[in-house]
Amino acid sequence: MIRTRFAPSPTGFLHIGGARTALFAWAFARHHGGKFILRIEDTDLARSTPEAVQAILDGMDWLGLAYDEGPFYQMQRMDRYKEVIGQMLASGHAYYCYTTPEELEKMREEQLARKQKPRYNGTWRPEPGKTLPTPPADLKPVVRFKNPGEGVVAWDDLVKGRIEIANAELDDLIIARQDGTPTYNFCVVVDDWDMRISHVIRGDDHVNNTPRQINIFRALGAEAPQFAHLSMILGDDGQKLSKRHGSVSVMQYHEDGYLPEAVLNYLARLGWSHGDDEVFSMQQFCDWFDFDHVTPSAAQFNTEKLNWLNAHYIRQADNAHLAGVVGLRLEGRGVAITETPSLEAIIALYKERITNLNELADAAEVFFVDPAPSAELLAQHLTPEARPALADFIAGLAEVAWDAPAINALIKSCIGAHGLKMPRLAMPLRVLLTGQAHTPSVDAVVALFPRELALKRLSSALKSHH
Ligand code: GLU
Repeated sequence: MIRTRFAPSPTGFLHIGGARTALFAWAFARHHGGKFILRIEDTDLARSTPEAVQAILDGMDWLGLAYDEGPFYQMQRMDRYKEVIGQMLASGHAYYCYTTPEELEKMREEQLARKQKPRYNGTWRPEPGKTLPTPPADLKPVVRFKNPGEGVVAWDDLVKGRIEIANAELDDLIIARQDGTPTYNFCVVVDDWDMRISHVIRGDDHVNNTPRQINIFRALGAEAPQFAHLSMILGDDGQKLSKRHGSVSVMQYHEDGYLPEAVLNYLARLGWSHGDDEVFSMQQFCDWFDFDHVTPSAAQFNTEKLNWLNAHYIRQADNAHLAGVVGLRLEGRGVAITETPSLEAIIALYKERITNLNELADAAEVFFVDPAPSAELLAQHLTPEARPALADFIAGLAEVAWDAPAINALIKSCIGAHGLKMPRLAMPLRVLLTGQAHTPSVDAVVALFPRELALKRLSSALKSHH
């Protein structure tokens, strides 16, 4: 049974790197008909917040990354960790260490002065035939894991290939602090063990933790899961993703007008490929996903490609669905949407021209709120020569059949009668009706309005701007 998990620490938002990790873990489970588990690693009390937990849940929800089990919270599993620590002490895989932080610091300085790698010197580590010092009565100990002294820890990473670390490189890890609270690497192992995780899929910033964790699995008599460490994502500029370089919350993409389908499709290609396929559904992604096609090299973020995908998914999307999501955005701006003009019809006309939902909302908004064209646009397009043609157009508009071809014929007859070129009339029409100089075909734009509204906007503009 394939069981994967996403195990974020709730210390910020769900950022792009985290979302990609979650997506790959989700897709791998789906591919194999397994289970995907969400675990919130909230033991860092100083940095974890309920808001950050909510941000993770919201991000997963928006992306549609449904989990089969969880969310589990590590803070609710403290008793279990303590239980396992007790067992490890009893079995001799862990021991009390009374070395104080001050002594450790001194040890460190001396080792550095001797050009040695700083490490715990093993004073309290039990060995056969060794007599341990007498524990000081007034000092609370930490608990250390008794790491194997010799040999190597090795694993075949599903992304990075074989990795081997000599045990001599690994210190005896503290698994419980003086106050008894368990430490990070230990909790992860107990969780992955208890949750029967078959594949640990995570960012490669955790590679250094893996040999320690494997040793703890072994000490527990548990089989270690397989590991897949995903390479990092670089920003558009090739620098490590940071807040400044686009490491933003996935919910920011929601705010910025991206469809979740576009973000998912985009994330899927960050470090994974299926031939030259760029556009595919999540069903296809789950069908195709495997680690043979996950690259060990860093992936580079490409905003242009994301925008291209977003434009694609908006064009493909059902107009009624888009009307729903754009409608919410307009309501958020305080725009009252009426039945006419039809938001769906507006979207059908404009969606080919935009790359995000906010642009679509901008385009639609002017149909529901009287536009206020800038003085500049008015001066440029509402010219003395245009006015008489515009007046004729308004007169004709009261009777014309209400569709784009008929409106187009009316425009042509008005410019013909006044000896004008098309833009002379089309531009003021655009500006007066929508406040904008750039719109789709002007006859189609006019036809989107109810007749009364078009007449009202044109005639009142003509009256009020002299
Ligand atoms: N909580 C860790 C993080 O947010 C992930 C740990 C893991 O996946 O093993 O980076």
